[in-house]
Amino acid sequence: MTPHLGPGLYLHLPFCSSICPYCDFYVLTGDPVRHGSFVDSLITEISLCEGGTWPVVGDESPVEPFDTLYLGGGTPSILADEELDRILTALRRALPIADNAFLSLEANPEDVSAENLAAWRELGVGFLSLGVQSFQQENLDFLGRRHTPGQSVRSCELALGAGFDTVSVDLIYGLPQQNRESWQRDLEQALDLGPQHLSCYQLTIHEGTPFGFRRQRGELAELPDDAQAELFVFTHRYLAEQGLSGYEVSNFAAGPEHRSRHNQKYWDHTPYLGLGPSAHSFAGRQRWWNRRKIKPWQARLEAGESPVETSEDLSPAELALERLMLALRTTDGLDLESFVRDYDIDLLSTNRETIDRLQTEGLIELDAGRLAPTTDGLAIADTLARSFEIPG
Ligand code: SF4
Repeated sequence: MTPHLGPGLYLHLPFCSSICPYCDFYVLTGDPVRHGSFVDSLITEISLCEGGTWPVVGDESPVEPFDTLYLGGGTPSILADEELDRILTALRRALPIADNAFLSLEANPEDVSAENLAAWRELGVGFLSLGVQSFQQENLDFLGRRHTPGQSVRSCELALGAGFDTVSVDLIYGLPQQNRESWQRDLEQALDLGPQHLSCYQLTIHEGTPFGFRRQRGELAELPDDAQAELFVFTHRYLAEQGLSGYEVSNFAAGPEHRSRHNQKYWDHTPYLGLGPSAHSFAGRQRWWNRRKIKPWQARLEAGESPVETSEDLSPAELALERLMLALRTTDGLDLESFVRDYDIDLLSTNRETIDRLQTEGLIELDAGRLAPTTDGLAIADTLARSFEIPG
């Protein structure tokens, strides 16, 4: 991958037409009046960063212009095209944004039409991520999605004909009633349509969500770990055979040019600024996040104050461990020399036995100064990282 020089900018646009029972993002439903008032507040938050001064880090803000913009949520495609345009215009006016900054947008199939696609292209969207989740009605019903399999297919066809650099299809697997054959049918259907990128997420049941309450009542359970691992490895091997190589735990691309340039920044510790309720940011040693709910977030902005709720100062050892954990979730893995340079830690000397053991177990590979997980290693990426001892 090309190095990521500039920081990334994430906007959390929290509205959805209904709330899916497994979702643990900060999301809400709302009418056009609420959308308009939200956009006004977001533009106020953007103006607080006028000239490129980030909250929390202030004078230490990164000086390079933002080179990726990501409209996420929520369902950004629910906002009117004029509202997206207002937000992007305000951003370009207030913040240093590279001329060729790469713009990504998340959309749901029911919002996709030829007119909307043309408008998003006009706004400069290069990476369109479609929240398809499944091409099968019983799965969409289980997941509480409002679109139909027909809309899943049609939205992909329309998007793929609209001239985006990359169309990505989001799918969910590991549903309780789903077996490998059923999951493979979803993958085959997606591959037939020919997207350049897939995101395949395993169903996770989060506490505090409707699925979490059903689990508490004993009505629902995640797949056992071994079944999850088997589906994970199958997914990576099958998609690689079909020309979509996994480059991160949940992400697959038809070539390096189709990888998510914005998400890459989260994985290699490039600074990013998040705006909107619940949005997280990271720069230097600082991480911070905004008030989660829209009302307190808006109240702060109306008072002319920053909506940041909390920040934390990470120690060098915490940063190093996090860097290792994030890198071991990607097939590029970790460049050992840059780890020495950034954290003064030589993993080859401090963790030699662990590295030898993980290599023998077929979980990591060491090649040309990079430590990278194998497919079996990726399946347990977080456990893998915890095998290491970070001094400090
Ligand atoms: S559409 Fe996406 S963001 Fe909205 S509730 Fe469903 S899963 Fe969450």
